[in-house]
Amino acid sequence: MNSTALPEFLNRSSAHYWLQNARLPLACIDESVSWKAAIAALSAPPISEDLVAAHLEIRDGRIVAIIPASQPLATDQPAWDVRQGLVWPCFADCHTHLDKGQTWFRNPNPDGTFDSALKAAEADHSNWNAEDLYPRMSFGLRCSYAHGTQAVRTHLDCLDGQAKISFAVFDRLRQEWAGKVALQAVSLVPMDYYDRPEAVTLADTVAEYGGILGGVIYPQPGMLAQVERAFELAEARGLDLDFHVDESLDPNAEGLRVVAETKLRRGFEGKVNCGHCCSLSVQASDRAQATLALLKQAGIRVVSLPMCNLYLQDRQPGRMPRYRGVTLLPELRQFEVAIALASDNCRDAFFAYGDHDMMEVFTQSVRIGQLDRPIGDWPQAVTRTPAQTMGLDAGLIGVGRPADLVVFKGRSFSELLARHQGDRVVIRNGTAIDTTLPDYAELDEVIGLS
Ligand SMILES: [Zn+2]
Repeated sequence: MNSTALPEFLNRSSAHYWLQNARLPLACIDESVSWKAAIAALSAPPISEDLVAAHLEIRDGRIVAIIPASQPLATDQPAWDVRQGLVWPCFADCHTHLDKGQTWFRNPNPDGTFDSALKAAEADHSNWNAEDLYPRMSFGLRCSYAHGTQAVRTHLDCLDGQAKISFAVFDRLRQEWAGKVALQAVSLVPMDYYDRPEAVTLADTVAEYGGILGGVIYPQPGMLAQVERAFELAEARGLDLDFHVDESLDPNAEGLRVVAETKLRRGFEGKVNCGHCCSLSVQASDRAQATLALLKQAGIRVVSLPMCNLYLQDRQPGRMPRYRGVTLLPELRQFEVAIALASDNCRDAFFAYGDHDMMEVFTQSVRIGQLDRPIGDWPQAVTRTPAQTMGLDAGLIGVGRPADLVVFKGRSFSELLARHQGDRVVIRNGTAIDTTLPDYAELDEVIGLS
């Protein structure tokens, strides 16, 4: 929504006002709200939506009170009546590839397969100097910010001297976006990189920039030792780990199990996040369940990238895909594994679409994974859980927390998930931001279209 259509006080940074008649997802409210109770008529079956009706008092950029919407507002402060619209905490997107983003027209994926994506991405690397990376990465961040995201973790391809270039651009962006989008970076290399002496230099670069050590895990000779080496390098530098794991439909791909076993054996104390974990979806149920129990025991966190999985997995020209590769979302939840949902690639050879919109990610994931009936605490998968994965105390609504909120017109999950929600209002530190998305034409020259 164009912020000029909003009440004037939403444009003032030190404003004191009420957000009136909001509905908050119960799963997104912290313990500061002792009275919280879901709206009975909506929470009961068959609707089964846990929403809390509330007025929120906002002052100097923070939420200073949350009261039941049943109480009349006795106040001299101005109020914005959101007419029962859902109000969410701002999103966290803990798995993106800003460095690859928006390269579709320069190096598209000719047949949409994973192998072709790898080849197209490799062909694109020759362009990746700072002048190319900076505008594309900042384009992605502008999309994220406008859609209501407050924290982004990106993987950065680090082969062939790329690490120094990409981490320097990342560092510049991290400074420029400080206070708007908390930015983190993970080094991305094939795991056999950890057989090489250069892995030490990579880990040092990651440590220098306060990043996270990562890699892409597939079944391959030497994989156990490579995972071990990544843990060892991370441990010595106090780094967290974030892997791409088992992004295939090969039931014998069990990198996830290896990561969990390695973490347990070493007593590794850092955070370990595993992305994709597609092969779990084609493994025998008892084997998959044993791995889920191991994940829980090891405290491994998982991030699923459903939109990218649907694009790449089980793709063969002229044939309907049978297996979609999205990991076992409800089962991970049942085993109490911290499970986040994230964007992954946007407009590159791995995923031709995407706009860094976490509400799109949530909507698609709910539909793909049948995460409703009831929707329960799945809203945390795009807010609280990815924020925790990133080590941030964010993604919740509560008294004393920053007023970083997304206001939707949809008054229920049914209305929210039915429309694209392009008219949302994003409030950061109590002030409505400009949610105009960057124009694709801005990148024409960068990617060689003009
Ligand atoms: Zn990825």
